[in-house]
Amino acid sequence: MNKEWSELNKSFQELIIKKETFDEGKQKLLELRKKLFETIMNVKNGFNPKGYSLIIFPNSKGYDSKTMAYSIYHITRIEDIVCNTIINNLEQVFDKNDYQKRLNINIKTTGNELNKDEIISFSESINIIELFNYFEEVYLESNDYISNLKYEDIKKKIPQEKKNYLYASNYVSHNESSIWLIDYWCSKNILGLLKMPFSRHWIMHIEAFLRIKNEIIKIEKKKISNRIAVCGFSCNHCFLGEWCSGCRSEYNCCSYATLFEDHICPNVKCAKEKDLEGCYDCPLLEKCEIGFYNKENNDGNAAKVSARFIHKYGKDSFVKVLNEMHKTYEFYKIQEMIKDSYNGIKILEDYLKNI
Ligand code: SF4
Ligand code: SF4
Ligand code: SF4
Repeated sequence: MNKEWSELNKSFQELIIKKETFDEGKQKLLELRKKLFETIMNVKNGFNPKGYSLIIFPNSKGYDSKTMAYSIYHITRIEDIVCNTIINNLEQVFDKNDYQKRLNINIKTTGNELNKDEIISFSESINIIELFNYFEEVYLESNDYISNLKYEDIKKKIPQEKKNYLYASNYVSHNESSIWLIDYWCSKNILGLLKMPFSRHWIMHIEAFLRIKNEIIKIEKKKISNRIAVCGFSCNHCFLGEWCSGCRSEYNCCSYATLFEDHICPNVKCAKEKDLEGCYDCPLLEKCEIGFYNKENNDGNAAKVSARFIHKYGKDSFVKVLNEMHKTYEFYKIQEMIKDSYNGIKILEDYLKNI
């Protein structure tokens, strides 16, 4: 388990049970949830929607045997049912805001009952943008609930009539893979529910979500032998290298590319139209201000210096220089060092001379 998440989880559980540290415990829980929420939202803008419906570990017995879309849906759906129906007697976000229609799905349940093929078709049809909206709305509502919780509340038990209500509802499938959830939730007090649907359940599925995503990127990276980005960056040295399979792949997670329609970076588009491998092969490079090379963009200056260096000395020399520089400096520091068009090239050339 991610060390930071595990420690926050442990600490919230220890603090929340004592009256004098109850508020601190709630803050730790909110902090944990914020970190988990941001982990998912960071993926939102930079990931090809195709990846959300892939089953990458079909033989796994764990949570990573599902899809990324299923992982987000499942933790959100369960929290919505537990927080609103079971604990607060309120209408679920799912019903109140018409999410079945908005998500384009034909179930109202938690999804536990779905087999692999059903998970794939469910994930292919779900509207990913609405899925993130649903996730965010439920997250915020639950946070309000947690923030207003009193110490006296945590020992409250779930009334038995909730069980009957849930059996009669269509929120939990009667399939054996799901029906146990009703007994499980209704046997807990509020503290027990905080420890699972609101925290640990997220950790388990978000870790699986990340394993699936990272494996997709790993597989995609293997398909692309040229690890120099079109603008001149080196993907193998980029701070996003773990997350992004490069702008020559289907899973380009470059934050600049995500600003454009279909996540296609103008430099990638332009080089492709000119039938060039990269901007480093382009005769217009020196004066180019397209896309990432626009004058206001400091990162673009560093990329352009890199592309000019590659044009003169080749990709292998560029990689050798970066390998050397990375022994001392991190990605951002190097971008800062080389962003000046004259001195930048000189720094790279000096390194090359001394290798
Ligand atoms: S700015 Fe464009 S060319 Fe450069 S790494 Fe990002 S997607 Fe690739
Ligand atoms: S962000 Fe750009 S340079 Fe970094 S790994 Fe992705 S494509 Fe490569
Ligand atoms: S014109 Fe600019 S963006 Fe297009 S390929 Fe040449 S250097 Fe790259």
